[in-house]
Amino acid sequence: ETISVAELANRMATRVPDVIKALMKMGVMANMSQILDADTAELVIQEFGHRVRRVSESDVEIGIEGDLDEDLDRLPRAPVVTIMGHVDHGKTSLLDALRSTDVAAGEAGGITQHIGAYQVETPAGSRITFIDTPGHEAFTAMRARGASVTDVVILVVAADDGVMPQTIEAIRHAKAANAPIIVAINKMDKPGANPNRVRQELLQYEIVVEELGGETQDVEVSAIKRTGLDKLEEAILLQAEILDLRANPERAAEGTVVESRLDRGRGPVATVLVQKGTLAQGDIIVAGAEWGRVRAMLDDKNRPIKTAGPSSPVEVLGLSSVPGAGEPFVVVENENRAREISEFRQRRIKEKQAAGITAARGTLDQMLARIQAGAQKEVAILIKADMQGSAEAIQSTVLKLEHEEVKVRVLIAGVGQITESDIQLARASDAVIVAFNVRATTQARELATRDGVDIRYYSIIYQVADDIEQLVKGKIAPKH
Ligand code: GDP
Repeated sequence: ETISVAELANRMATRVPDVIKALMKMGVMANMSQILDADTAELVIQEFGHRVRRVSESDVEIGIEGDLDEDLDRLPRAPVVTIMGHVDHGKTSLLDALRSTDVAAGEAGGITQHIGAYQVETPAGSRITFIDTPGHEAFTAMRARGASVTDVVILVVAADDGVMPQTIEAIRHAKAANAPIIVAINKMDKPGANPNRVRQELLQYEIVVEELGGETQDVEVSAIKRTGLDKLEEAILLQAEILDLRANPERAAEGTVVESRLDRGRGPVATVLVQKGTLAQGDIIVAGAEWGRVRAMLDDKNRPIKTAGPSSPVEVLGLSSVPGAGEPFVVVENENRAREISEFRQRRIKEKQAAGITAARGTLDQMLARIQAGAQKEVAILIKADMQGSAEAIQSTVLKLEHEEVKVRVLIAGVGQITESDIQLARASDAVIVAFNVRATTQARELATRDGVDIRYYSIIYQVADDIEQLVKGKIAPKH
């Protein structure tokens, strides 16, 4: 009996669907006229980065301190980069090589701490943050939790090997996340290096490099000989400029947990990436369902620091327990508030588990609820078929079903059985999997069950069309 969704959106000067989306992330299905309790409303307000004021202890009225001037205060921030590509194409070597370009590293005495992310400073004084766990698994796991951390994806392709299966997977993951790609053609020092072949092969996956008239930047590098790294960094900074990445450092911090572990001596240690605001020692933070006071912070060179601004990765000590990678964190004003949010989230987790829902996403029914709530204007579909011809036929069939209000997006139209990677991608993008005359591997089936990803099996194309059409129209009957 506190505030309706519409009123809340109005007061925050936000769109109703965005509020509904935020609620959904918290596992609450709501429409615009739904009345929220104070707990929930406060959480939503917090998620949007506003401060909440309780009028009195018993009174649940909510006062929103206007921070609408936030946009005016936003300053350029460093881009956050993830490296992806096929195994053995040099992701780890490239991360090491890029790390060595840091002009600030010398001051730290060359101590490198692997905390899950690091930042380099270029000779010209620009900064770039790299996520230190290469590959799309971490990237997708984070995205599946709703975290969008990566601004730019570096796609590493070995010049002597060319486009390989995991290169293609990486492209799909990057595209599904709408992250711009920069191609790093690696191992240029090898005698068999053939960068033009790489550029040609990428065409097939709709990556057209500038040289071939497209918009994707590509840079020839050698991680081992450490050549081309300055050009690669220039390309990243250029892309960052195009994206106009900004954040307001003058506000309470918000961000995402990149990595966490239990340290014997220091207790729970979490590496967080600050995305907005400035995190300071002594701040009280809630990360996922855990909370704590920031007892100490260390940067990626193991140096103690007192504050960390936007795009900085820092190790945080002082949390009550270990939060999961990809969990969001926020700074709150006091311990009571932190306890409240943490209890609320723990309750939600328990409720979800009790309901047997391991993840509030993925199934047709849930997607339908979201479309009806106006929160999702897109139906994402992943197609796997026994023959390329069938996959393409299904793709063009479902694309024709697009409605003016509901976009149909095909993430993959490929051949072969359904693998774990397909499930991860479907989960991260809230997609339904269409399996046409193919099966899922045992591991993929298990993962799908665990993550609530809907795999639908068909052997007749018009049945696919019927089902997806119903989905698009929001008319499909509940499955069970
Ligand atoms: P990842 O699996 O993508 O992380 O690849 P790694 O970084 O582990 O590299 C795989 C292998 O390729 C290692 O033996 C590296 O030494 C080698 N390698 C990586 N980059 C280069 C390069 O630029 N030139 C040459 N010649 N070898 C490289």
